[in-house]
Amino acid sequence: MPQPPAIIPSRPAQPDSAQALPWRRRLQALRRWFDTSANPGQAAADDRIDWLRALPFIGMHLGCLAVWWVGTTPVAVGTAVALYALRMFALTGFYHRYFSHRTFQASRAVQFVFAVIGAACGQRGPLWWAAHHRNHHRLADTLQDPHSPRHQGFWWSHAGWFLTPRAFATDLSRVPDLARFPELRWLDRFDTVVPLGLALLLFVAGQGLQHWAPGLGTDGWQMLVWGFFISTTVLFHATVTINSLAHRFGRRRYDTRDDSRNNAWLALITFGEGWHNNHHFFPGSARQGFRWWELDITYGGLRLLAAMGLVRGLKPVPAWVIEKGRKGHQGRKGRS
Ligand SMILES: [Zn+2]
Ligand SMILES: [Zn+2]
Repeated sequence: MPQPPAIIPSRPAQPDSAQALPWRRRLQALRRWFDTSANPGQAAADDRIDWLRALPFIGMHLGCLAVWWVGTTPVAVGTAVALYALRMFALTGFYHRYFSHRTFQASRAVQFVFAVIGAACGQRGPLWWAAHHRNHHRLADTLQDPHSPRHQGFWWSHAGWFLTPRAFATDLSRVPDLARFPELRWLDRFDTVVPLGLALLLFVAGQGLQHWAPGLGTDGWQMLVWGFFISTTVLFHATVTINSLAHRFGRRRYDTRDDSRNNAWLALITFGEGWHNNHHFFPGSARQGFRWWELDITYGGLRLLAAMGLVRGLKPVPAWVIEKGRKGHQGRKGRS
């Protein structure tokens, strides 16, 4: 297959990037908030946190504090919960199980709709997410793993790694199957458009409710704080527990080369991703809870979509995988 046109080269290098003037580098960092293809060569091997580019991420957390000013209403909290659930499903079902692992098929329209919902999580575009995740499986808990807690500790695996210039680029050589879709490349390039659009939508909806349904007691600012800042921040931290906690705490049913664990609490908040040792042992199935009692809400959602004809060909867990889990390492306790 011919190599797709690279928006962001996989091994970017500009000879003068290291010597760029400080003000110029800052300007480039600002441009990359909006266009991730801007100056692709900048410090691509740098492992220090790029604080300027991290400002929106910090701002997202600070925005949660505004809850003391805007207050709380059932409609605002309900919106935050609904947006958490919808976006967690898009992340786990599509960013992870579809784009990263191809465990089922979907039409181009369906994949685009869920790519947009996934992009609303503020966790970069689908190509970036899938490329880094494929690298994680290939190199899990080695020194080359983008986010292993084994070598660099909890905070690095949880939130530090993706704030560095090294983790900024999308390695298109890892996702040629996805990069052939221009609409996905566009979402990846302008990855702040959808989250900003969601924030604006929530504000406008809140102002509309204040005008048309004043009995609900909400307004634009409250809907923005609950529906966007709080929901997105909680969603982020829940998602990345799989990088940090699910490689430290839980049981190991399968003796994989990495440190992945099965953890029921993490599975609950991430809709099934907490069965992470299962998943590292056999990433090729649409289901991650391998036993009937291993709650996998995302798999339930995917089955519902399949029943509606929106997705098809959900790959099952092979019988030998179940059997190996029963015989080999069942009940094995984690090392930490
Ligand atoms: Zn993992
Ligand atoms: Zn995976």
